[in-house]
Amino acid sequence: MRGQFNEQFIDSFEAMTKDAVRVQKQTLARILEENGDSEYLQNQGLAGRTDVQSFKTCVPLVTHKDLKSFINRIADGDSSPILTSKPIPRISLSSGTTEGKPKYVPFNDQLMHTTMEIYKTSQAYRNREFPLVTQKGLQFIYVGKQTTTKGGLIVATATTHVYSSDQFRNNIKSKFVCPEQVIFGSDFNQSQYCHLLCGLLFSDEVEFVFSTFAHSIVHALRTLEQDWEELCSDIRSGFLSNKITDSSMRSAVSKLLLRPNPDLAHSILTKFKNLNNGYGLIPELFPNAKYVYGIMTGSMEPYMKKLRHYAAHLPLVSAYYGASEGWIAANVNPKLPPESATFAVLPHIGYFEFIPLGIDPVDEDDRELEVVAAAAAGEQEPVGIEEVVVGKDYEILITNFAGLYRYRLGDVIRVAGFHNATPELQFICRRSLLLNVNIDKNTEKDLQTSVEIAGKLLAAEKLEIVDFTSCVDRSIEPGHYVVFWELSGKSREDVLDSCCSCMDLSFVDAGYKTSRKVNGIGPLELRVVRKGTFQKLMSHYVGLGAAVSQFKTPRCIGATNDVVLQILSDGVEETYFSTAFD
Ligand code: AMP
Repeated sequence: MRGQFNEQFIDSFEAMTKDAVRVQKQTLARILEENGDSEYLQNQGLAGRTDVQSFKTCVPLVTHKDLKSFINRIADGDSSPILTSKPIPRISLSSGTTEGKPKYVPFNDQLMHTTMEIYKTSQAYRNREFPLVTQKGLQFIYVGKQTTTKGGLIVATATTHVYSSDQFRNNIKSKFVCPEQVIFGSDFNQSQYCHLLCGLLFSDEVEFVFSTFAHSIVHALRTLEQDWEELCSDIRSGFLSNKITDSSMRSAVSKLLLRPNPDLAHSILTKFKNLNNGYGLIPELFPNAKYVYGIMTGSMEPYMKKLRHYAAHLPLVSAYYGASEGWIAANVNPKLPPESATFAVLPHIGYFEFIPLGIDPVDEDDRELEVVAAAAAGEQEPVGIEEVVVGKDYEILITNFAGLYRYRLGDVIRVAGFHNATPELQFICRRSLLLNVNIDKNTEKDLQTSVEIAGKLLAAEKLEIVDFTSCVDRSIEPGHYVVFWELSGKSREDVLDSCCSCMDLSFVDAGYKTSRKVNGIGPLELRVVRKGTFQKLMSHYVGLGAAVSQFKTPRCIGATNDVVLQILSDGVEETYFSTAFD
């Protein structure tokens, strides 16, 4: 029955994507018809027109800053048709980790519906390639905090809105090995512990391991490597660790422990003792797992090495592509490894345009100025899905049913090919500049590459980089890059000296190299932080309203983000300066 449903779903998706260009035009027309009487669209002079050409002529490209005053009015309780005809009922917090402040974006029922479309599409193609029996997973999902605006709208991360919805809750029993109290727990560490405990208790039922962003899987499995003896002791005694103080989670999980189970505890203990440094932990503990699933591209790439180590022969399946602002694409080629994962645009969930790139990355703060200056600077006109070229890079623009029109998401994607007539996208990076002292321009991807190259020098030491971030230090002249590393253990000083110089040399940007040679930029500094520093950093962001499920370590900390800079500097144990250009 399920297989039949899958095939029907896939057939209709195939038919729709063959007609993707027409579907895009229809979708734009629907968005403009449904929201034509909103203040925002009224001001654009469309006068009821819903065709692509009029839309492109009348409606400007925008960034979040351009919409902030409209969104703030909505948040303050103004229910007049501002961005959409129907009032916006909820506000999402997009991560905004770089600037240190999450941004408000509108969330409504249509966005909920598009989320379900993305889930169903990805699931149908995934089930075809990797059929499951029970469909149950060890799913590291954590519902974040919900607050309300002064106008009474619920504010939470987009994943929290989705996970709190009835559609989602109705599925929990059949798709999770844990009770819903674990997902909705008040404390991340307690929820993570209980997720792991339920996974071990029902290990035979686990057919896949999931988290929205793969970072949460790696985080949980690292914790499992530390806490397994305590988890085994709970199973052996039938008594849940006293550290679980959230009363509803405690009561729900205690019911599952039922009675002492020394046999299970012993078998888990034996498995752990046989593991070599955690290699193959997932298939060893969850023998029926078919794959590991989650977003694994972009800023998740640095965690892939560790995830592969845990997964051994199990496939790593990349999830979907989207943002709090709106969904974009699903993975219809689940067998591709994360390095070559692509995402097929869903032509019926929004209208998508693509700005051809070949120009420099932009400073996050200047993005809106850049929109104004774009025409003058010769930025090319955005094109539709029918005009994109395979192999070229673009910045993506979203127009959706939640009040965003020609919105610059700030992501750079490459068109990897087409699925029927809809483009398949590869995530490249955020467009914004990450590190910049003077004429240098380095993006998140550039930093990621340098860290990866230098990190290879740690292999001989059997060490790995647990996490990393960076900042620019301008307190002394000339300014220089500072990269923070948390390591899995203690490394020799000479190795870290080499890592530091290697990172400095691995930034290939010509502006950086030239500046370094003439000391226009000072030697790169590597600061090694104490174990647990990045956990503190995550807790800080979670305290600000970020959800663990959506957490992405910010790869550069802005100079004004004092609290995070303080957390990092409190953790610094060792400092190295590059001698690469001496
Ligand atoms: P958020 O602000 O938490 O909604 O995060 C949205 C951002 O996460 C997107 O704009 C992307 O930069 C990133 N993202 C989402 N999906 C993917 C993906 N499949 N691969 C890489 N990055 C992604």
